[in-house]
Amino acid sequence: MSLLVVNDIHTYYGKIHALKGISLEVNEGEVVTLIGGNGAGKSTTLNTICSITPAAEGQVILNGQDITAMPPHEIVKAGVVQSPEGRKVFTRLTVRENLEMGAFVRNDSRGIQDDLEDVFERFPRLKEREHQLAGTMSGGEQQMLAIGRALMARPRILLLDEPSMGLAPLLVKQIFDVVRYLNETNGTTILLVEQNALMALEVAHRGYVLQSGRISHEGAAAALKNDTAIIEAYLGG
Ligand code: ATP
Repeated sequence: MSLLVVNDIHTYYGKIHALKGISLEVNEGEVVTLIGGNGAGKSTTLNTICSITPAAEGQVILNGQDITAMPPHEIVKAGVVQSPEGRKVFTRLTVRENLEMGAFVRNDSRGIQDDLEDVFERFPRLKEREHQLAGTMSGGEQQMLAIGRALMARPRILLLDEPSMGLAPLLVKQIFDVVRYLNETNGTTILLVEQNALMALEVAHRGYVLQSGRISHEGAAAALKNDTAIIEAYLGG
């Protein structure tokens, strides 16, 4: 059974019909990527899954349970956790406080402490900067912090919205290394939205291509990488 099933969702912003029937599935242990140009509906898909921008039609099913109408905090509790686009860390809180905020839906203080240690081990830079205000961290560090904060909710599925956006090439590589590590070592299931289609298809098992609110292509990442139409449209010729 798929961990996450998105079934024919339609989402509107006022009169703008942003998602016109999106269906996708993510299996336990997979990295699945959503790629597509500006305004294709990638962020809206993630926000609809999280109920931040509710679906007008269609269903979101987690492990067989319909979560479409649940409020966002209940969805986090159910295990769907997003690291949003543009990082959005709490700039006036310290690194440690940001990570603690990530665990806001939990009350197992022992488990929270263990996970905090794990995040610090995985991201030594965050440990070094534990008491620094998040707003004074570099772009790459804030991105690591946003991912670490999402992990503190113990996601069953982690939704990453453009984690490489605005970062220098070396940091982009580090972010993709983290994505791979989380999946391969921690077994985290990941739905990854990226503009950087080539890198995303390298780390993902499968992918979906979005175009104007619809899925235009889907398949194994390796097949998408070799599809001429996709190469021309998204992989720089
Ligand atoms: P990008 O990579 O540029 O972020 P995207 O694929 O994530 O693009 P979305 O942000 O999901 O695309 O946007 C899908 C469509 O919905 C676009 O036409 C966009 O203009 C519109 N849209 C997104 N957010 C809003 C909003 N808050 N109000 C009105 N329209 C919106």
